[in-house]
Amino acid sequence: MTYAFQNFKYSDFCCKCCGKNLIDSGIIHRLQVLRDILCVPIIVTSGYRCERHNRAVGGATDSMHVRGLAVDWTCSKIEEAAKLCENWSGGFHYYPGRKFIHTDIGRKRRWVTWII
Ligand SMILES: [Zn+2]
Repeated sequence: MTYAFQNFKYSDFCCKCCGKNLIDSGIIHRLQVLRDILCVPIIVTSGYRCERHNRAVGGATDSMHVRGLAVDWTCSKIEEAAKLCENWSGGFHYYPGRKFIHTDIGRKRRWVTWII
């Protein structure tokens, strides 16, 4: 499989516990578009999760991460990134206090969680 994404490596998205990686290239493509606009690195904090790892981090049972359709990330322009993500067509969950964003390529949903 070839990943022609300028600013992401396939390994950025592998499961933190076992290295398994079933990330969907569609979401990497969408993140690359954001990255090109933001012009700062997007740091992936959680990409694909195997079921065991998803349970370990308290993820939802039907988490989009387990299906390889979700990525959590941060960057140095998090507020600007969150504004851009208002146009994200899938799921977008912003955690302003913790300065990270969950994006997925499921149906369109919006959340903001004000926790530190
Ligand atoms: Zn794992």
